[in-house]
Amino acid sequence: MTGIFMPLPLHILKTVFGFPAFRGQQEEVIRHVVEGGDALVLMPTGAGKSLCYQVPALCRDGVAIVVSPLIALMQNQVEALTQLGVRAAALNSARSPDEARVIERRMQAGELDLVYVAPERLVLPGFLSLLEDCRIALFAIDEAHCVSQWGHDFRPEYLQLALLHERFPAVPRIALTATADGPTRRDIAERLNLQDGRQFVAGFDRPNIRYRIAAKNNAREQLARFIEAEHGGPGADSGIVYCLSRAKVEETAAWLAGKGYTALAYHAGLDQSVRAGNQERFLREDGIVMVATIAFGMGIDKPDVRFVAHLDLPKSLEAYYQETGRAGRDGQPADAWMAYGLEDVAKLGQFIASSQASDAQKRIEWQKLNALLGLCETTRCRRQVLLEYFGETDHPPCGNCDTCLEPIASFDGTELARKALSCVYRTGESFGAGHVIDVLLGKDNDKVRRFGHERLSTFGIGTELPAEQWRSVLRQLVAAGLLSIDTEGHGAFKLTEACRPVLRSEVRVDLRRDPLPARGKSKSSGGKKTAIALSEPGDEALFQHLRAERVALAKAQGVPSYVIMH
Ligand code: ADP
Ligand code: MG
Repeated sequence: MTGIFMPLPLHILKTVFGFPAFRGQQEEVIRHVVEGGDALVLMPTGAGKSLCYQVPALCRDGVAIVVSPLIALMQNQVEALTQLGVRAAALNSARSPDEARVIERRMQAGELDLVYVAPERLVLPGFLSLLEDCRIALFAIDEAHCVSQWGHDFRPEYLQLALLHERFPAVPRIALTATADGPTRRDIAERLNLQDGRQFVAGFDRPNIRYRIAAKNNAREQLARFIEAEHGGPGADSGIVYCLSRAKVEETAAWLAGKGYTALAYHAGLDQSVRAGNQERFLREDGIVMVATIAFGMGIDKPDVRFVAHLDLPKSLEAYYQETGRAGRDGQPADAWMAYGLEDVAKLGQFIASSQASDAQKRIEWQKLNALLGLCETTRCRRQVLLEYFGETDHPPCGNCDTCLEPIASFDGTELARKALSCVYRTGESFGAGHVIDVLLGKDNDKVRRFGHERLSTFGIGTELPAEQWRSVLRQLVAAGLLSIDTEGHGAFKLTEACRPVLRSEVRVDLRRDPLPARGKSKSSGGKKTAIALSEPGDEALFQHLRAERVALAKAQGVPSYVIMH
């Protein structure tokens, strides 16, 4: 292809990719890059970001260099491109030195249209000088949020990509991501030296996804009821179930299998071949439920995932958006379902508190956690809350999320709030939900006696509500910033400054009237279980796991701040 007769983007789209028309802003982005401009592209998962650099790669002279964070992601794309007759290859640690040399020689000879490269490899001096011998069509930086510490997938190697601008000032660069709130967006542009490039921001709304968030009350049973009611039970719809720990992934997969589901597990602790096999089956077969940690899903392009369920809170709203975004990529109705409880908040809080991150970094993490809580506890349209976080403030209520479909009644909960806050205060701000609720309900048990709490003025003042509803009240008080969870004190509640006027009855507290969760057969409300679960068996394994997993996934020299160093 010569620089004089550049093939037209639409022609490439039709003849090479077999699609009749561009979607959304694709055409604009492509024209800009083909003409040599830099671009930062923010589009939701499934919007079609890949074509934004693949088409220009074929329009412009030379080889396009695509930076991608995961080997699986690269293989996937190279395979798909090769099938379309595009000359593509991937350079990463999965290649032998000989194979790599062959690819490099083909690059120099102008025999490749796209080469996918791991970031750490791209910035090697030897590779950079090799690039100087090649004609380069463009640089594409996929999953560009990896460059930002604000994002949820920080990869230190991405930071060095800023040097591309200095080394190759004439080559257009296009950075792409599905996750970027305002601060992350600025951060990406700055760190990649893309301030002068054009930003293309597509709407983040995924109208076909229905968001629902339920209060945790035996989450596994809740999950099974949800799949049965909405997704036809075993063998019907494909779905992903996210859990925080490796152990919980395995337990949940086994439990679902016991109920007749084809449930597979995916986490970093599994053998590479098992993991690859499970992923392969999930992609190829119908009706499989993949139970996984966050390790699963980046770049997985399965269009007909009908539900994404969270049995544990994700790390942030961005993570929630990205993970739930794997549902319904075909545009057909899909569900994002989550069960959450206070113990999840405490757990994530502990990750933050005990990480080795700087105070500034920890503040960011807390803000992110609070934003997530805000989504969980909102009485407003969930989609509105989610999209506002990404800067889209002009959406009407969607009419398709749980809070729209079953509007949450709110009521004057000032008195309940005062009772709960006083009880936290009287018990010395040293206990989590379980004990505080026991005292409110006047439970005369060992722990209460041990601390002499049966003598408190708040003992038994809350018998008007059952334990689950008190838990909902406490969650809302945390979400409203009236209570904080002291992660150094093993998850004890603390009063915040904001609760003074409440205790003095100067302001009114509106609470949501949670639909009473259907009662499970068993023990869901025992104080012991709801107490902040620091001592839960498996936590150590969980921490280890998270650390190992993130490290393996990111191959990072610096460990993301929310991974605990215990
Ligand atoms: P993203 O990277 O934004 O998450 P992808 O680039 O993986 O999304 O694209 C998602 C899916 O959409 C892919 O299956 C892709 O082939 C398809 N797609 C992208 N652009 C178009 C288009 N213009 N017409 C039809 N299908 C498209
Ligand atoms: Mg992509």
